[in-house]
Amino acid sequence: MLEISNLRANVADKPILNGISLSVPAGEVHAIMGPNGSGKSTLGYVLAGRPGYEVTDGSVTFDGQDLLALEPFERAAAGLFLGFQYPVEIPGVSSLQFLRESLNSQRRSRGEPELSGGEFIKLAREQASLLGMDVEMLKRPVNVGFSGGEKKRAEMVQMGIMNPKFAVLDETDSGLDIDALRAVGAGINRIMRSPDKGVLLITHYQRLLDYVTPDRVHVLYRGDIVRSGGPELALELEREGYAEAVA
Ligand code: ADP
Ligand code: MG
Ligand code: MG
Repeated sequence: MLEISNLRANVADKPILNGISLSVPAGEVHAIMGPNGSGKSTLGYVLAGRPGYEVTDGSVTFDGQDLLALEPFERAAAGLFLGFQYPVEIPGVSSLQFLRESLNSQRRSRGEPELSGGEFIKLAREQASLLGMDVEMLKRPVNVGFSGGEKKRAEMVQMGIMNPKFAVLDETDSGLDIDALRAVGAGINRIMRSPDKGVLLITHYQRLLDYVTPDRVHVLYRGDIVRSGGPELALELEREGYAEAVA
């Protein structure tokens, strides 16, 4: 479903990704782990098409399409979702307005009918309640004044509403207490664990993987994948640290 081949990318003229190859088949969750500064967030941004992240070599195909040839909004409409490590605040735009416009613009570009106001509110209410979030919070400006944990929950509500084919989730577990971690883990499983979907789960810590069991675990180090394994690799990393694992 997602095929990354020899991907190299620069940020501010500095090489950050150094030849990543990775294949995520439909139906699978792959975890990317690695120390700070290894390029995990950069990989997420490159896949989403963030300006300033310059691909210098390699290719990415998504569902058979050349992902890197698409504009960011086309990638989203094709079903790619990026959950941010640091969700942005957007003063002046309510979450409900933002999500309804995002969803309907994606539906338009796929040739699907737009949701009416009533249909959208029903969907938003349902998805918010599944994540244990009061829909009233979504009437507020996007993420403004939310705690770290609330922002991460709100991202999962967004994901539930957008219902993407493929999600890249960047440190979705950071800043979560135990209950929120469980809710977010269950949300990822409910929304994304499906034979026709896939997930790249970027995480520092093993603990989210107690709730979302990955099919494969990859270690990203200095911009390249240096080890891959099954779920047990995450436990080994937790026990022994990255220095040992990449030696
Ligand atoms: P991770 O998410 O694994 O902690 P990042 O992808 O955020 O790592 O960063 C990888 C490297 O790229 C780091 O050395 C970081 O300092 C550098 N980097 C990231 N963004 C920028 C930027 N906008 N300008 C310059 N260097 C950057
Ligand atoms: Mg390589
Ligand atoms: Mg990061």
